[in-house]
Amino acid sequence: MKGKLTVVGTGPGHPDHMSPAAVQAIAEAGTVAGYRTYLDLLGPLLEGKRIISNGMRKETERCRAAIGEAREGASVALVSGGDPGVYGLAGLVLALLPEEERDSVRIIPGITSATACAALLGAPLIHDFAVISLSDLLTERGLIRRRLELAAEGDFVTVLYNPRGKNRGELLGETPGIFLKHRSGDTPVGIVMNAYRQEQSVRVVSLGELALAEDIHMGTTLIIGNSETFRSGNRMITPRGYGKRSDPPSPS
Ligand code: SAH
Repeated sequence: MKGKLTVVGTGPGHPDHMSPAAVQAIAEAGTVAGYRTYLDLLGPLLEGKRIISNGMRKETERCRAAIGEAREGASVALVSGGDPGVYGLAGLVLALLPEEERDSVRIIPGITSATACAALLGAPLIHDFAVISLSDLLTERGLIRRRLELAAEGDFVTVLYNPRGKNRGELLGETPGIFLKHRSGDTPVGIVMNAYRQEQSVRVVSLGELALAEDIHMGTTLIIGNSETFRSGNRMITPRGYGKRSDPPSPS
């Protein structure tokens, strides 16, 4: 590779939630590649850059184009929302490259939706949690169902990415039933839409009410509490267990 290829995590939306390393990688790049919506959020950071952009389903083409330019000598930043290593482009880029080129790719982490949305909800992820994508575009539906079952049974706080797509909502429809087999209907569920963007919305419903939340869309992350998570107004708190033991543990 004559140039440079950096996969940059841009966080949930607002540039304030990008790391200085991410901002610097974009500033240094001559070419910036990414999904249109994510690029739009970067605003002035893109001034004077060559842009490679196309639609959501064209990820492979976009990655190939970014790799092609880097091979020819350009310094390319490939942006990926949230963290590029969590359902992001880091995996695809590395998979497309031959082994001898993989070490040269730099990957810059970003704040992923799970923790970005958790912060808006209070402290739901203080205990063990599982992260599951409901998208069945690349994963078999039966396997997603099984993971939901096991997370519910294991009493994991469960973060759901990609809850609904343009043509899919079936797994989301099944989710309350799966969790209600193992958790009470009062279990809090955080619904965070467009976190750190202009249209941000944050609310907490009960597991029993989740089926009624018809506004859940692609830009939404759900956090289902464990059996101890409680609600306080629009906040969700999962206790770590302080106070249960006679020798209080240090918070690590
Ligand atoms: N790499 C990204 C995830 C990509 S999958 C990350 O680390 O966050 C896309 C899913 O992420 C969406 O369907 C939604 O569930 C979640 N998501 C992305 N941006 C979000 C935001 N601003 N607010 C809430 N959820 C978001």
